[in-house]
Amino acid sequence: MNHVQAKVLTHMYDRFLEGYSPEFISKELREQEIPGCTGKAKWCPSAIWKMLQNEKYKGDALLQKTYTVDFLTKKRSENQGQVNQYYIEGNHEAIIDKEEWDLVQLEVERRNQFRQDNHINFYITQCEQNPFTCKVFCKECGGLFGRKNWTTIRGKRPVWQCNNRYKVKGVQGCTNRHIDEETLQQAFLRAIEFLQENKEKLCEKWSNFSDEQKLQKYHATQLYELLDSVQEEFNGRKMCQVLEKITLGEDGCITIKFLEGTKVNL
Ligand SMILES: [Zn+2]
Repeated sequence: MNHVQAKVLTHMYDRFLEGYSPEFISKELREQEIPGCTGKAKWCPSAIWKMLQNEKYKGDALLQKTYTVDFLTKKRSENQGQVNQYYIEGNHEAIIDKEEWDLVQLEVERRNQFRQDNHINFYITQCEQNPFTCKVFCKECGGLFGRKNWTTIRGKRPVWQCNNRYKVKGVQGCTNRHIDEETLQQAFLRAIEFLQENKEKLCEKWSNFSDEQKLQKYHATQLYELLDSVQEEFNGRKMCQVLEKITLGEDGCITIKFLEGTKVNL
């Protein structure tokens, strides 16, 4: 592992905790032509998922991850309990500090759980161009909202619509209404304003987090930083660091849930 690789790795872990998905991180590394272990700028999300969960980067080693199935052909297979595994803590110098590594594992778990709870096969976050991806849900049918570009006289108008609205072509499914992207942005800013006004209560709630709630604590710090700064304009990247999801009801009710657990109804 050379200096450059260590830098890429640190970047990867930091980005993930900032709310980016492995899909986005791999795209970014390809675009910047950062070479991977093969020397080529070929990065795929699944490799990044693995790197984010590899204990070797926090200085530990798991021996016998694979084992020899056939001694003649030297064929090796993933060890799923066929032979003993040995875990050695502090085996070599760490690239990622243990605390950050542990946080990333909790965040991996959280995203997997989020996918399961919301019945989505993917959890792609695009903090820069399209920050509402995989973040807006329908209160009526539980479906995910997708982005549509409506053409109007004044040009393109981005709106979000329940994906179950026209599941079968031409037949209206879910009756929940669409929402303008700008309305979503304004709603998020209003929720932030509300939290800023209730910061004291929020801090009190956070001070009661237990030692085990490491990830919630981390997300609370991120939110605190955001509340501490002036938010006049919408910033998708900052939103992705603190927002879990937005739920939209047919009655126009907007619920904004933050990653540290607080819900705001607008
Ligand atoms: Zn719906």
